[in-house]
Parts: sequence; structure tokens; C-alpha cells
Amino acid sequence: MRARDLGRSTECAVAIQAVDRCVCKADLEVSIITDRVGRTFAVVTLVKAPDLEQKRDSQESAFAHEIIARASDGILAIDKTGAIVFCNAAAADLFDRVNTEMIGTPFGFPFSKGGDWTSLEVAVNGEPVYLDMKTTPVFWQDQDATLVTLRDVTQRYESETIAAMHLEAMDASANGIFVTDTTGQIKWVNRAISRISGYSEDELIESEPGLLKSDAHESHFFEEMWDTIGAGRTWQGQIVNRHKDGRFYTAEQSITPINDNAGRLTHYVAIQEDITERLKAQTDLVRLAGFDSLTDLPNRNLFMDRLDSALDRATRANRRVAVMVMDLDHFKDVNNTLGHDVGDQLIVTVTERIQRLMRNTDTMSRLGGDEFGILLEDLEDTNAASRMVRCILETFDAPIEIADRVVKMTASIGISVYPEDKADPLNLLRHAELAMYRVKSDGGQTFQYFDQAMDDEIRTRVSLERDLREAIKNEELWLAYQAQVNLETGAVIGAEALLRWNHPKLGFVPPDEFIPVAEASGLILPIGDWIIEEICRQTASWRSAGMAPIQIGINVSGHQFEHRELGAQVLNQLEECGLDIDAVDLEITETVAMERTDHVTRNVDQLVEAGVSISMDDFGTGYSSLSNLQAFPVRRLKIDGSFVSGIGEDQDNEKIVEAVIGLGHSLGLTVIAEGVETEEQVAFLQARQCDEIQGYLVSKPLSAADFEAFLSSRTSAPSI
Ligand code: C2E
Ligand code: CA
Ligand code: CA
Repeated sequence: MRARDLGRSTECAVAIQAVDRCVCKADLEVSIITDRVGRTFAVVTLVKAPDLEQKRDSQESAFAHEIIARASDGILAIDKTGAIVFCNAAAADLFDRVNTEMIGTPFGFPFSKGGDWTSLEVAVNGEPVYLDMKTTPVFWQDQDATLVTLRDVTQRYESETIAAMHLEAMDASANGIFVTDTTGQIKWVNRAISRISGYSEDELIESEPGLLKSDAHESHFFEEMWDTIGAGRTWQGQIVNRHKDGRFYTAEQSITPINDNAGRLTHYVAIQEDITERLKAQTDLVRLAGFDSLTDLPNRNLFMDRLDSALDRATRANRRVAVMVMDLDHFKDVNNTLGHDVGDQLIVTVTERIQRLMRNTDTMSRLGGDEFGILLEDLEDTNAASRMVRCILETFDAPIEIADRVVKMTASIGISVYPEDKADPLNLLRHAELAMYRVKSDGGQTFQYFDQAMDDEIRTRVSLERDLREAIKNEELWLAYQAQVNLETGAVIGAEALLRWNHPKLGFVPPDEFIPVAEASGLILPIGDWIIEEICRQTASWRSAGMAPIQIGINVSGHQFEHRELGAQVLNQLEECGLDIDAVDLEITETVAMERTDHVTRNVDQLVEAGVSISMDDFGTGYSSLSNLQAFPVRRLKIDGSFVSGIGEDQDNEKIVEAVIGLGHSLGLTVIAEGVETEEQVAFLQARQCDEIQGYLVSKPLSAADFEAFLSSRTSAPSI
């Protein structure tokens, strides 16, 4: 270095300045130089020594820089104008940019300087990002600025939201939920558990699930439960709990142990669904499906099942099975006169009495209404069945007391026996039913075994029904007219129309055979419609031909009162044919009077109001005759032919005839005797002022043409 250059040496200049201003450490370099003329100089070079403190400072600041650059939180510096002047990589990352892009751009989010963490929701590439933000005032290049720390909490926020949602869902769940800690203390409950258990949230929190414990379970039940939970598994089962009000309720419950991330057990979650109602409905259903609710007896379905298995056993063991069908006699009348409640109690009492006779192996069932099935298994012979059936019938000897009333009941029983009757369960029952119906039609109060003849009879009925349907179409039905005369004057005052059927193969079929079939099958309704039309048509035609006006009796069945607008039907028909109201007389039986449903009553009222004449047919053969008469406004009583035929032969019958005439007259009714065949009967009836008679003595039922001929011959020679 040349000496003249010294003045320009920057190191030297700095050193001089530094010497000027402050004490400053410098490295001193001294070199001896000699110029051309031989002078020697010492050249001192002041080189500023590296400042240790400064060195450390700069090391630290580099380190801080490094920390800031690598920090996972986003760090930004924002100047007074709101522009970003510094931005670390994490901050740029948050916004999916690089830091250089950020510098100089406005921060754009509201913030206050200093203070606590606040939340910020920003959209990055259209996705929400949740940030926590904290601001601190700083100096940046000698200016006031704000240091902003941003922390991405999106994941936490989302899991918190999900957790909150879970909590909300748990709270709103229809199932009761509670959470206990490991000591068994309840820490959280949802709303449903309060509804299910009756305890409020306050009452449940901090208490133990034992609060709900009932004494319905043995200790091993809970031991098993704890074994499962203790092994870290979920326990699931039905548990009977006690409601706050003391009643028990059944819950479908699960208890699940909950572990933290480290696998430590922290809580138990119990979930319970109250299934008390569902269980009840289920048992009701099972009972309904198999049992009768009034008597608790097996119903028809269950009876058939048992019969089925009984037959299997009987076949294997070579034993007999008897099937009985029992029906109470005149039960309908009890129901109608004393009411259904009394009827129900009667059924219950009868059940109780008979059940006392049953052995373990026997089954008593309520097949429906007042019909019972009795299954006797393991019989050695049919005598055993007969002995049992007699015992059953004897239980009816004692009258039944219900609600201050004493009711005397009887029953009809039909029996079929396997294997004598080689039938399947369904037919065994049907056969027993057939035998029972036979007992009924013979007057009830006893029992009968099924025999093949009964089955044949039923088959005949079935084919009769089929043929009867055709009979209407084929015009095989016609009406016969039987005269009714005034006993005093001998004048024909009317005629009863009686239905006749000329079967193409069987010939004449008696009404007593086919009318019950028509009634049972409902065919009586279309047939009845035809009869009313035909009678009105015939009567109108007779009237227009100049025949003296006589009243024609129409037999109407109870079904017509029940299932037809009979009142309107008769009145319309009369009007249509131009007939006055007393052109016809409706013959009804006491069953119609007894089964007075609303519909029947409406029909009766309509007819009575219009002034249509009504006769009570077969009077004296029915049940509780007098009360029916009081309830039913009839014009005439018809004494049943079976009593009339007893005149001169049976004193009881004579007394009945006498009593009916007296009763009718005392009520202001006309009395007509049916089935009059002899002069002796006429004399008896005349002596007792019977008003009218009808019977073979006067005339048999005749075809319309024959009846016309009869009438004209009669006017020429009036006698009884
Ligand atoms: P019912 O209404 O009591 O009819 C009287 C029955 O006595 C008739 O029997 C008649 O032929 C018969 N009869 C009349 N006089 C004498 C007599 O002096 N001696 C004897 N032994 N019998 C006599 P029928 O015609 O066989 O009718 C039987 C039953 O069929 C009738 O009994 C009635 O319940 C029913 N029936 C007949 N025609 C009709 C009808 O058009 N509609 C309805 N629903 N039932 C009818
Ligand atoms: Ca009649
Ligand atoms: Ca009659």
C-alpha cells in the first residue's frame, strides 16, 4: 500500500470516525514500509474488530428468523396502513400463497391491536378455514406495526362441531342415555332418560344408576353384566328398572365402556329404550292370537293346534281322542233380554264350572260366541267321553246367579271320536259341530255322537242350497194360498201365502226342508223379495178380476227385517200395485220381535205407522212370549198348529190354546188357530171365542187358480 493511499482507506476512515465517537475495539495492523528516499514509516491499519456482542446479536436474530420462518403458526407483520410487511411461510400457507405474494397486500381482516385470541373464519379456495388470531403491537423498521399470529384450528373446529352435534343428537335421542365416570357416578344425562325414569336431570347427575334398580333381577344378572363391561365389551340386554313413581319398566339397554386416546377407561355410556309398551302389545298379540280375552280359554286356532298334536299322540299310543262341541241353548235370548254384560258373565261362569271337571290333559276352548270346544285326550273307550259329557251337562243343573238374577241354562253337546271317526282335525271338529246342531234341532239339553247319516244330511243341504239358487232363476218356486175363515160367520177373510218348490229331480220339496237352507244361505232375501212382489201382483190381479177383498198373509223372515228396507219395500209394492194398506198381513215369528236391532225397529215402526197388519206366527212356541208381545204392536196372534192338534188329546195343549185366546183378547188382539183339521177342534175353539181358523179342514194350501175356484165354490156354499 502506498502512503498517499492511506487517506482513502475506508477501514481507516471508519476507525477514525469510531475513535471520534466512541470507544471502539479495532484490530490494529502495523506494517513498516520504506519509501524510495529511504524513510521508514509505520503504516497503521485499523481494522474494526468483530464485536462479540454484535456477533451474538446477529446470531440470535438469525435464529429468531429461523424460528419465525419455520413456526407452525402463521406470523405476519402489518404496518399502519394495514399492508402486510412481513409474512412467514406458515402464514402464506394458510392462504395457499407464497410469502412474496403476500408482502405489500392488505391484510383485509378486522383486528384490534393486542388482546386475547379471537376467531376468524376465512375462505381459502372456496373452503372455509377457521383461524384463531392474536395480535401484538410491535415496531417494524422504526414504525408502529402489528404482529399477527394466526393458528389454523379448522380441524379442531370441525371435530368440536361434530362433538357438539353428537351431544345434541344424544340429547334429542328418543332413547334414554346417561354417562357415568369410572366410579359409576352419573355425569351426563339426556332428556329422554328423565322422561323414561321419571327423575329430573338434577336428580340423576352425581347419583348412581342404582337409583333405577328394581328387584326384578337376581344378582347373577348384574354379575354377568359387569363381567362383560369389565372385559371392555358392550353389554346389551333387557333390564327391568324402577321408575321414580315405583312402577317397573323394561328397557332394552346397552352399556359401553369408553376409553380415552391412551386406552384408559374413562366413562361408561348407558343407552336404554323403554320397551314396556311394546312388550305388552306383543304379549297381548300372542294372547289374542291364541286365547279368548273374555275367558282366557284357548281360541279356535290354538284348539285346532292342540287337536292336531293330540291326534299325533293318539295314533302313536293307540288311544282315543274325543272332540266335543258345546253350545248353550237359547243364549241369544239371554243376550237380547238381559244384555250382553250378563251374557258375558254367563259365559265366564259356565267356563269356570266346566274347567273344574277338566283333567290336565284336557283342553277347553272358546270357539266363538257361546260355542265351546272340549278336547279329551288319552281315552280308553268312548264310555269315558260319555261320562265326562254327562258331568258337563250336570253342571248346568244348578242355576247361575248373575247380578241379582237367576238364570237357568242348558247346553247341547255334539261329540266325535278318533279313531272311530277317521277324520282329520278340521273334520273331527265339524262332525262334533254337526252332532251338536242335531241336538239343537231336537230341542237341546243333551248330547249326541256324530254318525255318518248326519254328514250325509249336511251334504244334502249343501246340494239343496246349490239347487235353490237355480230354482229362483228357473222359476221353480210358486206360491200356494191357504184360506183363513172367520169362525163365527164362516166367511173367508184371508189367505196365507205359502212357498212351494217343484224341484226338477226331487219333485216337491217341503218348505220346512228348504226354507231353513234359504235362511242359512241368505237366499231367503232374494226369494223374499220375489214373494212380496208376487203376492202383491196376484192380489192386485184378483182384485181387478172382481174377487172380494181378502187379506193375504206374507211370511217374512227375520233376515228380511234385518237386511232389507222391509218397511219401504212393502209400502212401495202395495202402492205400485194400487193396493190399500190392509191388502196384506205380515206374519212374523217371535225371533224377529226379540232381535230388535235399530234396523229391525225402524222397519217395524215404519210398517206399524203406515197401518200394515202384523200377525205373530207360531205363537206359544217361542221364548218369553208375553214380553215380546208387549214390545211388538201386532194385530193378530196365530196359535201354533202343534197346540191345536193336541185339542181333545192333550190337556196341556188345550190349556195353552185356551190361555193364548184369553191373552190375545185381553190385549185386544184377534186370535187365529192354525192347523185346524177336525170338527172337534173347531168346537173347542168356538167355545173359547177363537176368532179365526186356518187348516186342512177348511182348505189345503192351493195354487192361485185352485184357490180362485175354491173361493167361488165357497161363496155359493158358505160353511166352515
Ligand atoms: P207356517 O208359517 O206355520 O205355515 C203353516 C204351515 O202349516 C204350512 O206348512 C201349512 O201348509 C201347514 N198347515 C196348514 N194347515 C194345516 C193343517 O191342517 N194340518 C197340518 N198338519 N199342517 C197345516 P208349509 O207350507 O209346509 O210351511 C211350513 C213353514 O215354512 C211355514 O210355517 C213357514 O214357517 C215356512 N214358510 C212357508 N212359506 C213361506 C214363505 O213364503 N216365506 C217364509 N219366510 N217362510 C215360509
Ligand atoms: Ca205362517
Ligand atoms: Ca205358523
